[in-house]
Amino acid sequence: MKIVTTLPELRSARRILPEPVGFVPTMGTLHAGHISLVQAARAECASVAASIFVNPTQFGPTEDLARYPRDLPRDLALLEAAGVDLVWTPTPEVMYPSDFQTWVEVEGLTRPLEGELRPGHFRGVTTVVAKLFNAVGPDKAYFGQKDAQQAAVIRRMTKDLDFPIEIVVCPTLREADGLAMSSRNTYLNPDERQAATVLFRALSAAKSAYDSGERDAEKLRALVRDTVNAEPLARLQYVSCADDDTLEELTQVTGKALLSMAVYVGKTRLIDNFVMG
Ligand code: AMP
Repeated sequence: MKIVTTLPELRSARRILPEPVGFVPTMGTLHAGHISLVQAARAECASVAASIFVNPTQFGPTEDLARYPRDLPRDLALLEAAGVDLVWTPTPEVMYPSDFQTWVEVEGLTRPLEGELRPGHFRGVTTVVAKLFNAVGPDKAYFGQKDAQQAAVIRRMTKDLDFPIEIVVCPTLREADGLAMSSRNTYLNPDERQAATVLFRALSAAKSAYDSGERDAEKLRALVRDTVNAEPLARLQYVSCADDDTLEELTQVTGKALLSMAVYVGKTRLIDNFVMG
């Protein structure tokens, strides 16, 4: 496995990779969810490239950039064991030199949900992913359903900017008790870790109502709300039942719907979602 930091190093390593190339962008502190993306890439592509970069521009001023967990030696060992061929670990200076002044912004899809609560977040995400795509030039890029709006926004950007890259969205990997795997789960103390199962429990409650025929979106949102409100360590930030393509809130679920939520467990912000229909 080749590990590179600078752009010239990346370009010469990329040039000799057998094609098609699959690409897995990450912020490190890897877990089985990230590795499942690598495995999907490994199964479909002749070579696999990954990046590890905690992208400062997608964090708000009061968010957890400074304390975001980092463990590069462990991450590199996991990527090597998973069969990655090339890892790019750019520094903030490589990605954002001091005179940097160009941004990539997707409009409509970034307005609701995460975009509304985290102003500037998606501008940071799309800018860094566009730069990663330009530098790596993959044939396919792999993202997790866990960050459903991010996947939708990247799909849009890829289409709108004519990147010749296929976006592949892989299922959310969960712990045995249903908690979606996330690097931010490392912030949780034992009581909070227990309470964090409330996201899965709330989504499951709404999903079983849906499976029993409930199609009133507000009733599905209310089930999520009630479940989270019953958990003392959790505070619901939003629950949404939206059209899976447009992310517009629904009154009635007729086609594919994205049921998504953000919850604070203590000081840790967690997100999760189910797709229905
Ligand atoms: P991150 O390092 O959190 O930026 O995540 C990198 C990629 O891994 C993104 O495409 C995420 O959606 C994906 N990912 C994160 N958690 C999971 C999970 N539990 N299951 C599947 N993919 C995930």
